[in-house]
Parts: sequence; C-alpha cells; structure tokens
Amino acid sequence: MVETLSIAVIGAPGVGKTSIIRQFIYNDFSEVYTPTRTRYVYRPSVILNGNMYDLKILDVPPISSFPSSSSQEWLDLRCRGVRNANAYILVYDICCVESFEYVKMIRQQIVEHREGSSSEVPILVVGNKRDLQRQRFMPRRAVSVLVKKTWKCGYVECSAKFNWHIILLFKELLGIAVARGMRQNHTSIRLQGALQRNRCNIM
Ligand code: GDP
Ligand code: MG
Repeated sequence: MVETLSIAVIGAPGVGKTSIIRQFIYNDFSEVYTPTRTRYVYRPSVILNGNMYDLKILDVPPISSFPSSSSQEWLDLRCRGVRNANAYILVYDICCVESFEYVKMIRQQIVEHREGSSSEVPILVVGNKRDLQRQRFMPRRAVSVLVKKTWKCGYVECSAKFNWHIILLFKELLGIAVARGMRQNHTSIRLQGALQRNRCNIM
C-alpha cells in the first residue's frame, strides 16, 4: 500500500510558497507574482529510500490565523484540510522580518490548536529567497538555532528561483514525517496520483 501524506504550505503573501511547490513538481519558476487567492491542491508522487509516497500538498492562500476549531476550518474554504495535515511547511522570506513573525505566530497556533498528541506534528520552517541573502534580516545560524532548539522544528533555507534546496526540503520533511509514523492510506488517491504523468520525483 502506498502511503499518503498531506502537507500544508503556509506563510505570509509573496514569500514564495507557490514558487517552491511549482519548482518541486514542475521545475518551473516565474518572476511574475500572481497572488494565490484560493486553496490549491497538488498531488505529486515521490520515491524516498525506495518507498513510494503520494503527497497531497495544500498551497494555502493568506489566512489571518490557524483555524482554532473544525467548524472554523469548514466555514472558511481557504483553510480546508489545514487542521488535519500530516505535516507543515511554514515559509518566510529571509529578507522580510514580518514574514518571520507570521510564521512564528502560525507555529504557536498549530501547537495550541491541534488536539493532544497531534500537536507534535512535523513542522519544517523554510527561509526562502536565499539568492537575496545580502538583504537578510538575521544571520542564518541565529534563526536556525532559534527554530531548532526553541521551537523544535526543522529548518532549511532555499531559493525557489534557482531551485536550490527545494528537493532537500521536501526530503527533510518527509523523513521526519515517516519517522514519526504520520500517514494515512488511501488507495484511490494512489491510483489518481500514479496515473498523472511527470508527477513522480525520485529524491
Ligand atoms: P506566495 O504568495 O507565497 O505563493 O509567493 P509566490 O510563489 O507567488 O512568489 C512571490 C514572488 O516572489 C514572485 O514574484 C516570485 O517570482 C518571487 N520569488 C519566489 N521565490 C523566490 C526566490 O527564491 N528568490 C527570488 N529572488 N524571488 C522569489
Ligand atoms: Mg501563492
């Protein structure tokens, strides 16, 4: 049985969430900024250490907060599936301190609003736009220590523009998620994913 993992990608507007996902799945990047207004789901299949996984990647449009209850999630179409994701990628722009503050708030809310042991869900914080690193607001080492030691999250920096560390970040997250046994099995999704061409990445 192929395992399915749902991953919600969350971050402030313009940090590069859509660019990271599209670079990962299609090897494609656009300089033109097209704001994501509705929730979009990508379903690539990947092979990691010889095992196949079907991913359900949610490109989450800007939300003011993490949904605090199931009813709030259902009332707001943009958040569907966000509360029960198996893992989170929280993206910020290494040149924009406000986008880091947003990630900090969402991480805190995930821990508070997910119930019981599910609050220990894998979270990977991603600093994007590494190609612009001369304008960064905080040294990489300082952010990495804060995120890993204090927040207990994974940390990776990448550049969606240059496809740098994009596969690595998905590999990192998947590695943590699989190790923690966060998965669901859905045969129907497996078939759907497998039938779509050019959607399988070997990592
Ligand atoms: P989203 O709102 O978080 O989905 O952000 P987008 O993926 O739409 O990207 C916002 C803008 O940032 C676009 O103009 C992208 O071309 C640009 N962008 C995304 N990733 C990078 C990156 O790694 N480096 C640079 N220099 N620009 C990027
Ligand atoms: Mg977007």
